[in-house]
Amino acid sequence: MTLTPALFPQLIAAISATIADHADAVTELDQAIGDGDHVVNLQRGLQALTAAATEISALPWPAAWQKIGMVLMAAVGGASGSLYATLFISLAKHSQTKPADLSGFAETFSLGVDAVKQRGKADVGEKTMLDVLGPVAVKLQAEALAGRTLPEIYPALLETAAAGVEATRDMLATKGRASFLGERSIGHIDAGAKTAQLMIAAIIEVLQKQLTI
Ligand code: ADP
Ligand code: MG
Repeated sequence: MTLTPALFPQLIAAISATIADHADAVTELDQAIGDGDHVVNLQRGLQALTAAATEISALPWPAAWQKIGMVLMAAVGGASGSLYATLFISLAKHSQTKPADLSGFAETFSLGVDAVKQRGKADVGEKTMLDVLGPVAVKLQAEALAGRTLPEIYPALLETAAAGVEATRDMLATKGRASFLGERSIGHIDAGAKTAQLMIAAIIEVLQKQLTI
């Protein structure tokens, strides 16, 4: 099975569905320590990507990643919009020079997450989406290097993402709006970490179904 952008419309539909299903719960999280607009910001981006999905599905990967990044950059306000745009534009850049296999993608994804860290001047452990994206990138790379296939590593990726979300609960926020609360940010899960996990789980669910066909 080769994963091509032809899957993009299905992926974006699955991601939109899970964000809609969890909209109220995530908004509650964001209202506790942020400004409550995270779901609305994400949904603006997802709507724009849905509108561009057919076009994106016909592109090769580097161009598809670039287009996704540009669409998000234009459509989404808020920290999360520019951070996700940065991730995808970085994937576009690095996927051109890495092999088109799992280890190549794992390396590309890690470099993309590094770009997000640079852009937001943040790292893992600061109560953000990076607490999911960072550990997932590390896990993906370790498992790919160990020679495992994508279907073999879905459970480990899901577990890593879920653990990343849970870990944000006891963290002190030092980046983003939640940092304005200082110590009072402790005890709440970060909304951006939660949506990153939901999106990763939705992607994995679509990919798992592909394999059973
Ligand atoms: P805003 O904070 O501008 O209102 P959103 O509400 O859309 O933007 O997104 C907030 C989420 O963005 C946070 O929950 C957090 O996960 C993530 N975030 C905020 N600042 C950073 C940063 N510097 N680096 C990484 N992620 C960040
Ligand atoms: Mg917000």
